[in-house]
Amino acid sequence: MPKQPTPQPGISDIAPYTPGKSKADGVSRIVKLSSNENPWGPSPKAITAFKESAGELHRYPDGSHAALRAAIAETYKLPAAQLICGCGSDELIGLLIAAYAGHGDEVLYSAHGFLMYKIYAQSHGATPVTAAEKNLTADVDALLAAVTPRTKIVFLANPNNPTGTMLPFSEVRRLRAGLPEEVILGMDAAYAEYMTDPAYEDGVSLVTEGSNTVVFHTLSKIYGLPGLRIGWAYAPTHIIDMLNRIRSPFNVNSPALEAGVAAVRDQAHVSLSRENNAVERERVSAAITEMGYHVVESHTNFVLVKFGAQAATIAAQLAKQGVMVREVAAYALPEYLRISIGTAEENTALLNALKHCAALQAA
Ligand SMILES: *Cc1c(COP(=O)(O)O)cnc(C)c1O
Repeated sequence: MPKQPTPQPGISDIAPYTPGKSKADGVSRIVKLSSNENPWGPSPKAITAFKESAGELHRYPDGSHAALRAAIAETYKLPAAQLICGCGSDELIGLLIAAYAGHGDEVLYSAHGFLMYKIYAQSHGATPVTAAEKNLTADVDALLAAVTPRTKIVFLANPNNPTGTMLPFSEVRRLRAGLPEEVILGMDAAYAEYMTDPAYEDGVSLVTEGSNTVVFHTLSKIYGLPGLRIGWAYAPTHIIDMLNRIRSPFNVNSPALEAGVAAVRDQAHVSLSRENNAVERERVSAAITEMGYHVVESHTNFVLVKFGAQAATIAAQLAKQGVMVREVAAYALPEYLRISIGTAEENTALLNALKHCAALQAA
């Protein structure tokens, strides 16, 4: 037997992330509602900028992301020096863990929180710890009770994926106030641009007030650019400084930088997506409720639906009809399916396919 190199402790225990399905055997037309993508796509200006970037592919990108940080700074009214861009917000979540949590440390998040917190904690040797939720919503008391002297980072996706639920900002503030000052609060605001609830804030004021809070945003959701992998974070200067030391110097490629600037500057397109999504989310939620299933109230571009013991069967029967939805057993929600909101036509296809699921008719 040839000798094999030994990976770091814990690496082989990591369950790899499973992306939303986009193919089904023998089905030519797919309705993909499994990855929370924006079905109306990105700003046309972003597509133009992407195409125009083709002439400069023989040059390295701007490793300081200056133009993209300037566009974000203007649009979100934040200081450019306290922004960092990444290859998706996933990369930045990973960098934060790499910089602040290692062997013997704990990374805390809520029971149905986003899976990447766990995967990145494990990949850096830190221990992932979860706190129970109430009504599929993060519970500040449970999170605070789970903090130990080993806790380095608490992650909160608000609103959360895959539940779609959110905490009002008063609760987020209570969480921050209850955490030790040296514990970082990572606020994952991947769906912030969909929010219309007046009780919601993404957490930037906590960063500004100087507590050790980091807010993550992405261009993969409402901006419709997941294929380009662009995320950004706003953090205190001392944290930005650490993340810049360990990131790859050219972590965001030049077509992504060009398209990202155009996308962030086109807020009219963002508003249109938000309005289209709200109308369709309402229609899909009402129709599935009408069929007798519980739809968790969503603030995002997806809904979480309780189908009970048949959930996996229903996902398979939808897939046979070309409609791909997301199973969420990996999030400890085996009785639920997560369904992204599509265009009107795609949602009608989903609702028709649901009516044709044998598992539902038998129930
Ligand atoms: C989609 C998503 C992200 C990040 O996506 P990227 O494509 O890596 O920017 C982060 N957090 C949550 C909760 C998400 O749903």
